[in-house]
Amino acid sequence: MSRIVQKYGGTSVGDVERIKKVAARIKGYRDEGHDVVVVVSARSGVTNELIARAKAVCEHPDEREMDQLLAIGEQETIALTAMALHGLGVPAVSYTGAQAGIVTDKVHTKAKIQGINAKPIEADLKAGKVVIVAGFQGITDDGRVSTLGRGGSDLTAIALAGALHADKCEIYTDVDGVYTADPRVVKDAKKLQEISYDEMLELASSGSKVMQSRSVEFAAKYDVVFEVRSSFNYNPGTIVKQEVAYMEKVVVRGVAVDKDQAKVTITNIPDQPGSAAKIFKGLADASIIVDMIVQNVGRNGVANLSFTVPGTETHKARKALEPVFAALGGGEVEIDEAIAKLSVVGVGMKTHSGVAATLFSALAEAGVNIQLISTSEIKISVLIDKAKADDAARVAHKAFALESL
Ligand code: ADP
Ligand code: ASP
Ligand code: MG
Repeated sequence: MSRIVQKYGGTSVGDVERIKKVAARIKGYRDEGHDVVVVVSARSGVTNELIARAKAVCEHPDEREMDQLLAIGEQETIALTAMALHGLGVPAVSYTGAQAGIVTDKVHTKAKIQGINAKPIEADLKAGKVVIVAGFQGITDDGRVSTLGRGGSDLTAIALAGALHADKCEIYTDVDGVYTADPRVVKDAKKLQEISYDEMLELASSGSKVMQSRSVEFAAKYDVVFEVRSSFNYNPGTIVKQEVAYMEKVVVRGVAVDKDQAKVTITNIPDQPGSAAKIFKGLADASIIVDMIVQNVGRNGVANLSFTVPGTETHKARKALEPVFAALGGGEVEIDEAIAKLSVVGVGMKTHSGVAATLFSALAEAGVNIQLISTSEIKISVLIDKAKADDAARVAHKAFALESL
């Protein structure tokens, strides 16, 4: 008998029929004698619909109220999943994030988990119940509902697997596992049998929404091995785990595209020590995540710099920069949302050269212009025209022969 944490994503619980199928699947694991803790997302589309409603009543909704609203999506599916299990004669109990003891910081809409009091769940498992937990949500220490960032149910599952010392953590989704690229965009993408935490993290933070990046970061930190697999079949999925030596033989393991970024260009700032520090401090104080920074050579005493921010944060970025420009005595901002970030990722890059050259040549041949470049030890990212992003992903996938990986 083992303890399994399973997470079912939005499509897997997309309507009552699917919820009933998920319940039957859970019953199967329980009948085999396992303790099962289940994390569910909102029905697919519900979180987006709630965000649209919030924006329909207020252009820039307050983030605390936003969390209050968004948490209801998961509250529907936990109750329905518990009821579906009852319908099959399985004892089950649902928990909101707060009831599950998931305490977070106060950074609404992207709160970090600070701790989990797993005692109530442990007690229900001991009593033979299947425990169903609402993904994506927690509670602040002063009792306010918080959410963990888009895709945050993955984090709920991985954090619970860690806290409950689960033997297995399974992330059920609508594809068979992690592929060399989004299989909806690159038709000949290959399913990977396994991938390292670091590669998965770079892919996730570069736009592969199959896993939420913060959940992978958490898994790596606490060494929670997990499997990404489909809720629609019993095929083996992709194991995400610590890097092992043979993984470095593959130079590029995947391609990711992120279309939810915006390019911020700041012009006419005084070219003096401290300008960049003030700008990025202002953005950091507003909890805005900045990526791909490029500063151009200053001329006539003024400098320009460009960087990317999440597309949802452009309004916040503009607001955060106003007092900085006032303090600097100059600065103008321009925001371009018609961009996308394309990344190639692989631990083999640590020991192989020529990856950048291969990528840049393939993009050049396909007529894709590169606006910004950034690299890490195992990733190369380029900022390109959003309209060309899918084609560019296919070109990069082919350039590294990932279809025959
Ligand atoms: P869930 O609702 O189950 O959390 P998501 O929609 O968040 O599911 O993530 C699954 C989707 O991620 C897939 O349908 C697929 O289109 C997309 N995806 C993007 N990149 C990849 C990749 N490299 N491998 C697998 N799926 C990917
Ligand atoms: N429902 C949330 C979202 O759509 C969380 C999740 O699905 O993981 O982002
Ligand atoms: Mg998801």
